[in-house]
Amino acid sequence: MALIVQKFGGTSVADTTKIIAAARKAIREVRSGNQVVMVVSAMGKQTDHLIALAKEISPRPNNREMDMLMSTGEQVTIALMAIALEFLGHKAVSFTGAQIGIRTDATYSKARIRSISTDRMRRALDEGKIVIAAGFQGVDDDLNITTLGRGGSDTTAVALAAALKADRCDIYTDVDGVYTSDPRIVPDARRLERISYDEMLELASMGAGVMHSRSIEFAKKFGVLVHVRSSFSDSPGTIIGPEPERLDAQVCGVALAKNEARITIHGAPDQPGVAMRLFSRFADAHIPTDMIAQNSSSQGRTDISFTVQSEDAVKAVDVAAEVVKEIGADRYDVDENVAKVSAVGLGMEKQTGVAQKMFHALFERGINIQMIATSDIKISALMTRELAVDALRAVHAAFGLEREPSEEEKAAGSEQKSNADHSFENGVSAHLISHLTGMEDVVVEGILLDSNQARFTLYDVPDRPGLAAEIFDRIAEGCVIVDMIVQSVGRDNLANITFTVPRSEIKSVEKIANDVCKAHGCHVDSNVNVAKLTVRGSGLRSHTGLACRMFKTLSDSDVNVSVISLSERCVAVVVDEAHGAVSQANLQKEFSEETL
Ligand code: ADP
Ligand code: ASP
Ligand code: MG
Repeated sequence: MALIVQKFGGTSVADTTKIIAAARKAIREVRSGNQVVMVVSAMGKQTDHLIALAKEISPRPNNREMDMLMSTGEQVTIALMAIALEFLGHKAVSFTGAQIGIRTDATYSKARIRSISTDRMRRALDEGKIVIAAGFQGVDDDLNITTLGRGGSDTTAVALAAALKADRCDIYTDVDGVYTSDPRIVPDARRLERISYDEMLELASMGAGVMHSRSIEFAKKFGVLVHVRSSFSDSPGTIIGPEPERLDAQVCGVALAKNEARITIHGAPDQPGVAMRLFSRFADAHIPTDMIAQNSSSQGRTDISFTVQSEDAVKAVDVAAEVVKEIGADRYDVDENVAKVSAVGLGMEKQTGVAQKMFHALFERGINIQMIATSDIKISALMTRELAVDALRAVHAAFGLEREPSEEEKAAGSEQKSNADHSFENGVSAHLISHLTGMEDVVVEGILLDSNQARFTLYDVPDRPGLAAEIFDRIAEGCVIVDMIVQSVGRDNLANITFTVPRSEIKSVEKIANDVCKAHGCHVDSNVNVAKLTVRGSGLRSHTGLACRMFKTLSDSDVNVSVISLSERCVAVVVDEAHGAVSQANLQKEFSEETL
C-alpha cells in the first residue's frame, strides 16, 4: 500500500464545490489501495484578506498576532475538507500544525520546520482515515503559532512526505504543471515533463510562484519526488526530481520577481569584514538578499548594492539605516520600483554565450539593465518594474523556450543524465539526517576552489541599453566561458561590470576589454591571479546566515572578497589566488558539521 501526500492550493479549495472535488481526488486514491494525507491551503484569497484586515487597523501589526491570524485560513479549510470527506462516505480527521506536531523555530512569518512527529498521523491512517493537515503553519517551543512564509503549504506537504517517507507528493494547483515561465504572463510558455530539483529551486527562489522554494529544498534533501498537476484536469503534469528534462539545454525556464527593491550603501569602508558585518545584520533580521554588487573603490570607499523582496523592504530600510552608522558608511538609498528577470538552466554551467544571449534580447527591446548577477546555473537582470514583463517575454523567446524539444534532443539529454552529478539523488544520507538538529538545517555538499581564474572590471561604463550585450557578444565570439558577472550602476549613472574568465583566456579578453574601453571612454582593471571559492549545497541563499558565516571565516583571516555570487545551490566569492587554498581549508573547517 503506497502513501500519497496530496496538496491542494488556495484556488483548488476556493469554494465548497472545489473542496468536494478535491475530496473526491483523495477518495479516488484511497479506492486504488493507497493511504492519503491531504495538505490544504486557505480558501482562495483568504490569506490576503486576513492580512488586509490587520492592515486596516495597523500599518505594522505585531508579528505573533499576524501568524495567529493567518493560520486561521487553513483551519477553516481542513474542517470543511473533513466534513466533505465524511459526507462522501469516507472516514477523515483534520489536524492543525500544532496537533500534527510540526515544530518550528520562533521566526514569525518565516518559521523553519525543526521536526514533525508522525505518530498521530500514522495512527489515523492505520484506522483507515484520510488525514487532512493544515498547510503553512506550525508551533514553536512555547506553542506559539507560527507560519512558514507565503506559499508555505507546499513546504508543509513536502515536509510531511519526507517525514512519513511517502511514495509520492502530488501538488494540485491551478496550472497543469511547471512551465518554462509563468503561463499567465508568457502565453507561449511550455509545460516541462520534468525538471531537476536544482533548477526548480532556483526558479522558485527567483519568483516562479508555482512552488514555495523551501519545499524543493526539502524534496532534494530527503529525495521526495514531487508531481505538480492540475486540480481541474487529468493532464500529466510535471515531475520534480533529480533529473532535468534535458541536460544540454542552456536554459530550462525564466522567472520574474516583480516586486523587488534595490538598496545601495554608499561609501562603505573597503576592508575585510565590512561585507560580513553588513550582511549579517540583514541575515539576523531574516531578510534574504540577492544580486550583491560592490562598486569601484575610491579612496578606500566602496558602494555596495543588493536587492531584497519588496515585502521585506520596510524592515530592510530600518536595517540599512542602522548599518550605515555601524560600519561608518556615508548613506544608503533605496529604489522600490525595480523587478528581476532570471534565466535558469543546468546547461549554462558548461556553455558559452548564455549571458550574451540574454543581454542581447533585452537590448533589442531597448531595456536598460540596472544590475546583473550570475551564478553557476542562473543569470539575473534587474530593470525598472514597468519593463519587466516585456523583459521576461524577450528572454523566454531568445532561448526558444516555447519550442517542444525533438525526440533526438530528449534522447541526447537522457544519455547524459546517467553521467549527471546527483549527489542528492536519493536524498541526503540517513547518517547526516540523523545529525540534523532541525529538518530544515542547511546541508553543504562541498567547498570548491578554482584557482585558475582572472577578474576583469570595466569602470565607468555608460549606463545605457546594449553595452553589456556588446561586451559579452565580443567575448562569446571568442568562445570564452565567462563565469561570474556582476554589474551595478555607480556614481553619475556610470556602471561597473566585473566578470571572471579562465586564466588561459586573459590575452584575448584583455584585448576585448581595452577595445570596449577605448570606444566608450571607460577604463579597465584586472587581477589575473584570483581564485573562486564556492560553498555548494541547497537552499543556501535563503538560509540567510550561511553567506555571512562564509564572509566571517574569510575576514577572520584578513582575506578581502572582491566578487560575491549568491544562489540556492552556491555561494561563491572571488579572493586573491594566494589566499585560495588556506581559505578553502578554513571554510571546510567552518562547515564541517553540515557537510555531506
Ligand atoms: P496554489 O494556490 O495552488 O499554491 P499558486 O498561485 O501558489 O497556486 O501557484 C500557481 C501559479 O503559479 C500559477 O497560476 C501561475 O500563474 C504561477 N506560476 C509562476 N511561474 C510558473 C511556472 N514556471 N509554471 C507554472 N506556473 C507558474
Ligand atoms: N495560505 C497561505 C498563503 O496564501 C499558504 C499557501 O497558500 O501556501 O500564502
Ligand atoms: Mg502556492
